[in-house]
Amino acid sequence: MTLSSLRTATALGLISMSLLGGAAFAKPAPKPAPLASEVQAEILRDAALKSNVAYDFVAELTTRFGARPAGSASEKNAAIWAAEKLKGMGFQNVRVESFPLSVWERGEESIEITSPFPQKLLGTALGQSTASAPEGIEAEAVIFDTYTGFIESKADLTGKIVVILQPMAKTSEGSGYGRMSGTVRSKGWVEAQKRGAVGYVIRSLSTDDHRFPHTGSGGWSDGKGIPSMALSVPDAEALGRIEAMQKAGKAGPLRLKMRTGGKFLGVGTSQNVVADLPGSEHPEQVVILGGHLDSWDLGTGAIDDGAGIAISLAAAKTMIDQKVQPKRTVRVVLWGSEEVAQPEPLAGAGGKAYVEAHKAELANHITANEMDHGAGKTFSAMFMPTEDKAFISSVDKLIYPLGIYIDAKGEPRGGSDTAELHEAGVPAFDLRQDGYDYFDTHHTPDDVLDRIDPAKLTQNVAALTAITWMIADTNVTFTAPKKAP
Ligand SMILES: [Zn+2]
Repeated sequence: MTLSSLRTATALGLISMSLLGGAAFAKPAPKPAPLASEVQAEILRDAALKSNVAYDFVAELTTRFGARPAGSASEKNAAIWAAEKLKGMGFQNVRVESFPLSVWERGEESIEITSPFPQKLLGTALGQSTASAPEGIEAEAVIFDTYTGFIESKADLTGKIVVILQPMAKTSEGSGYGRMSGTVRSKGWVEAQKRGAVGYVIRSLSTDDHRFPHTGSGGWSDGKGIPSMALSVPDAEALGRIEAMQKAGKAGPLRLKMRTGGKFLGVGTSQNVVADLPGSEHPEQVVILGGHLDSWDLGTGAIDDGAGIAISLAAAKTMIDQKVQPKRTVRVVLWGSEEVAQPEPLAGAGGKAYVEAHKAELANHITANEMDHGAGKTFSAMFMPTEDKAFISSVDKLIYPLGIYIDAKGEPRGGSDTAELHEAGVPAFDLRQDGYDYFDTHHTPDDVLDRIDPAKLTQNVAALTAITWMIADTNVTFTAPKKAP
């Protein structure tokens, strides 16, 4: 029997192993026993540090689709593409889960000073802002240096444009943003409208002084609000100088002309992309990773939140590449429609749609993570309390070499996409990233791939890979979050 005919015969199953015998045909070695979770996690962490999966993904996503506004064809096409990509990577049960949402489109916009010193300004409408009349609105502007000053003021605002010049504090973990997005940006126009104002303008929620305005959700208006816009930081500061000149008697009243073109296109669809790396022993137990696929329309959503998606899927892909399978299922969700406000009952968007579609499985959701704070390095990790001290000690050893500590005092809060999961009792775990520069370019045309440092991105992947393996390959459990009253 020639070697080639032996190969053919073997391939056809014509020769029994006993007939062949001999060392060369010894029965295949038994599958190696799985490594201890911590040992395997270390191997995975180091493999992740050598991988380009995350950067390659966010590069291709932003190049192919550019901006991905919630409910747009671009967001949908990106979801279909990502699902195919995830299948190709070896993920299983990959599906696109659609849900309804109200769609808003920006339209044409402009803002200018008409008096005392006529000139164009750089501003952009806040998300879901109501359109002005086609020719715009022109009115006297009343400037407030702080939001509190505006709320406490008794000034007559009838027929005026309210301007808030409050700057945003620059912090690593984003607390300066959190203090302002839910008030100045999304509620201010409601207060201004109640008091008779015809327009609302804020200094961008920005930590840089470039001349891009930063958009962001202004809260749902259903086309019945007043036009609301954000100015670039230098333009807001110019208005501050005019205010000072007014006080010194060197300038007359400030008048602004605003034109916003927000279109409310009715109910469309957005979608979550869901992909599993099934567990070997407890496939019904699920650990959620993810970020959001939609972005604002001005940039290409590289740091917000292409990076978060890429980090999350690359963590699971590292396990696939190393041909290991944790005991529990690792599920990656590319959330749809995170950025935009929605009217009831659609509010909650992708996160809410997931909770509704997966209600029966939620009791088996061990914990959930969302990466949505750019592409800076992770500096700390936070978990809900656990009895499993060995888990904490292992994670500590695994992430210290990456420059990350466990913040035992902090309580993980999750992200806006996982908020509905936490509300339903699923514990969060957080990786806190250095976002000191994040709000320099967040929600601007400058949110592009160039803002991502591949080495920093990869550090996140390594951390998330090691931590996720320790959660998915052990029996660790965490205290459920307290239910909202
Ligand atoms: Zn985001």
